[in-house]
Amino acid sequence: MVYLDYSATTPVNKEVLDSFNKVCLDYIGNANSIHKLGKESFHLMEACVKQVADILKVKSDEVIFTSGATEANNLAIKGVAYKYRNRGNHILTTKLEHSSILETVDYLSKNGFEVEYINILEDGRIDINDLKNKIKKNTILVSIGEVNSEIGIKQNVNEIGLMLKDYPKVFFHVDGTQAVGKIEVDLKNIDLYSFSGHKIYGIKGIGCLIKKGNIELEPIIHGGKSQSKYRSGTPTLAHYASIAKALKLVYDNFNNKYDYVMNLNKKLKEKLLKINNICINSNENSIPHILNISIKGIKAETMLNALAEKDIFISTRTACSDNTISLSVYELTKNKELARSSLRISISYLTTEEELEYFVQVIEDKIKELSFEKGE
Ligand code: PMP
Repeated sequence: MVYLDYSATTPVNKEVLDSFNKVCLDYIGNANSIHKLGKESFHLMEACVKQVADILKVKSDEVIFTSGATEANNLAIKGVAYKYRNRGNHILTTKLEHSSILETVDYLSKNGFEVEYINILEDGRIDINDLKNKIKKNTILVSIGEVNSEIGIKQNVNEIGLMLKDYPKVFFHVDGTQAVGKIEVDLKNIDLYSFSGHKIYGIKGIGCLIKKGNIELEPIIHGGKSQSKYRSGTPTLAHYASIAKALKLVYDNFNNKYDYVMNLNKKLKEKLLKINNICINSNENSIPHILNISIKGIKAETMLNALAEKDIFISTRTACSDNTISLSVYELTKNKELARSSLRISISYLTTEEELEYFVQVIEDKIKELSFEKGE
């Protein structure tokens, strides 16, 4: 099997799974209980929170565990929208965002909020001048993904955050789901930051929202205080331990892992560019872990299925999106044909050169085969 879909989800790291299992077995108490077993669980919970906070250089009380990045994004956006609706109802985001952002702002736009989309430059980066021009007196939130999930374009969130400091009434939310673990992240100029455990070799079912101290959110789940007041219910301690461990491990030996992926990406691009009818949609602003390509005349699904027959697994677009074309590729290229035939290859430090060689060989054969069937 050749797995090239690491941006959809990652296989769990054995050490992370061991931590998860150990906490399940050894910490039976509810961290909200006041007896000894509860206290033991509570102390472990605090240690997990601190580990996440230390790695991301934030404070422990700024860490909110959620079920994943979808929930973190919902909490950040709806939480700000409903808490600060007396101050304003204007939200800015981009069309490059994940469906958990786009559908959340769409929901809000049907419920009294005004949503506007910031222009994207030809190189996929946000047009900061357009962002500045679109900020109004009633703007309460700007939400931007640090790394786009389909093309891998990295936004300069530090620069954007710095600029937004001139607008103290505008909160800055960043969806860091495709950034954490793949690039070094810096939350200095960011108010709210979402990410997910299962994209960093963790367990599915745990994510995190970092919320800086000066911000209040309207909870979207009610039921009293738990790990945070935003997510009531019995603390899912083993999940907390797993995301803390995953975050630590993913940044161990980070530079070597990054350089390795960069080298793989370079070689893969060189090989793919030699194949007729392949166009590369990712550009110089894309992180090396995500390579988006389109194949002229071949529908994305057709190629995806043809590759799966050979035990190769990639994505047509973000696994959570149900659109028939890649919205991100369309936003970048304004070309429906490219957006319809686009494929996302996502690699990791676990990917080998042999796997990529096999992938290139198979895709070349399949392009010939499928083009021949179509009589091209
Ligand atoms: N944001 C981005 C950019 C993503 O890629 C994803 C996962 N595809 C999510 C949010 C949602 O993450 P989760 O699966 O943890 O809900």
